[in-house]
Amino acid sequence: MTATQVDPTTGEATVQSYQMRIGDQWLDAADGRRFETVNPFTGQAWASVPDAGAADVDLAVQAATAAMAGEWGSCTGFDRARHMRRLADILERDAEQLSVLESTDNGKLIRETSGQAKALPEWLRYFAGIADKLQGEVIPAQNPDFLIYTRHEPVGVVAAIVPWNSPLSLLMWKFAPLLAAGCTLVVKPSEYTPVTALELAKRVEEAGLPAGVFNVVTGQSAELGAALVGHPGVRQVAFTGSPNVGIKVAQGAAAHLARTTLELGGKSAQVVFPDADLDAAVNGVIAGIFAASGQTCVAGSRLVVHEDVRDALVERLVARADTIMLGDPLDVASEMGPLANPAQLKTVTGFVERAVHDGASIACGGTTDAALGGLFYRPTIVTDVRWDMEIAQDEIFGPVLSVLTFSTEEDAIRIANSTRFGLGAGVWTNDVRRAHRVAHQLRAGNVWVNAYRMVAPNVPFGGSGYSGWGRESGVDAVREYTDTKAIWVDMIGNTRDPFKLN
Ligand code: NAD
Repeated sequence: MTATQVDPTTGEATVQSYQMRIGDQWLDAADGRRFETVNPFTGQAWASVPDAGAADVDLAVQAATAAMAGEWGSCTGFDRARHMRRLADILERDAEQLSVLESTDNGKLIRETSGQAKALPEWLRYFAGIADKLQGEVIPAQNPDFLIYTRHEPVGVVAAIVPWNSPLSLLMWKFAPLLAAGCTLVVKPSEYTPVTALELAKRVEEAGLPAGVFNVVTGQSAELGAALVGHPGVRQVAFTGSPNVGIKVAQGAAAHLARTTLELGGKSAQVVFPDADLDAAVNGVIAGIFAASGQTCVAGSRLVVHEDVRDALVERLVARADTIMLGDPLDVASEMGPLANPAQLKTVTGFVERAVHDGASIACGGTTDAALGGLFYRPTIVTDVRWDMEIAQDEIFGPVLSVLTFSTEEDAIRIANSTRFGLGAGVWTNDVRRAHRVAHQLRAGNVWVNAYRMVAPNVPFGGSGYSGWGRESGVDAVREYTDTKAIWVDMIGNTRDPFKLN
């Protein structure tokens, strides 16, 4: 499953070699191809994983299908809950190790990945609590001769496709509810961060979940994801990623009528009213955009601020942004790590350059970090931004905040709702009436009032418009992975007119 290559001259471990988990086996790709994943902080390859293709996808879907028909398919909700709690205990034990692996693979701060790793058991335990309560209902019948009831049955094999920014968390947001529902999974992690899904597979095996419940295919081609989405054995695709790929995923799944949940990008607004607690707003706006170097779907990338407090707020944001400590993601003192890959750095740089060309001004940042270089981009605040500029409309997925100004509440709502996205929003005000009024009118699946970027296993998360459809987390997330069956039982046995309904 994992083998560490050792440098014969120094005796030091170099690149760790992984295999994929398919059914009850640890396998290389059918054609033997592999690729390496790079640590964004060091720029060095640190792990080698199989570069799977369509044949491997087919094998994984077969394994997941066999598990549905086998031991896992006959588990009760109580059995599934037991399996899930055992896995939760193992993940709790290994949280620290998993967070180091995650930070090594995607360059995210250990501060953040350790919190995310500690939350994995919480998601499993929350949904384990639902697995044994997934009950149908008895429906009062118009015809008293009938008993009518419903069952919530698993949809079958689910394909999960996840991005690189929070690989384990976003996988668990799918895995925990689909386990509760009784489904099986084939996951394709991002080509930039394939390792932690394979590490999770080791722990799923240790927890004793039946073979084929959790399968992983790793690969670097877009064709791999497309092959998984288009596989006729897949009944549902749970996708997290960009809108452009999300559209392709929805089309590929629709071609064989598989269901989809799409968690896509965002261009979330932080709306600050003049009566807000500005100290709290500074923290919330900074955390919303610069945590995770802006590489989070709910990044509060647009500051929509009232004209009366604009200058004061921007001044304080710039002062704080300039003191953000960039550094090694594994150092707990670091406040911002590198961008996750060179393509991402190019994207961020391009957005900022085009904004300046279009008339925007840089209040701070706007360059790579002179001392650290590499993939480190300075926390950047851009002013003189109009609502319809590219920088205010498109997702950057980097540490770049655009400042927009409003004068009335109506303006604020109009500007906040002026993109194609609908994922997150923050409202900063001390007026309780305004807080609710504005929260109701913002087009976003998640609104935080005097807070930002909070998630929990029992709270639904998702978006609308270009931010996708479906909800993860919360009680109803399990229903995303079930079909409701209605069962009609004739309790009398009277012969009825065969040509008349009921
Ligand atoms: P991406 O869309 O480029 O890739 C996501 C995944 O899709 C990767 O595993 C990739 O290999 C795979 N993929 C690529 N082409 C494919 C195809 N044709 N068919 C099937 N799969 C394919 O996204 P990314 O750059 O990895 O991640 C950043 C994006 O993810 C941002 O837009 C961000 O907002 C979004 N995101 C959303 C959420 C959310 O919950 N809403 C959370 C995190 C990230």
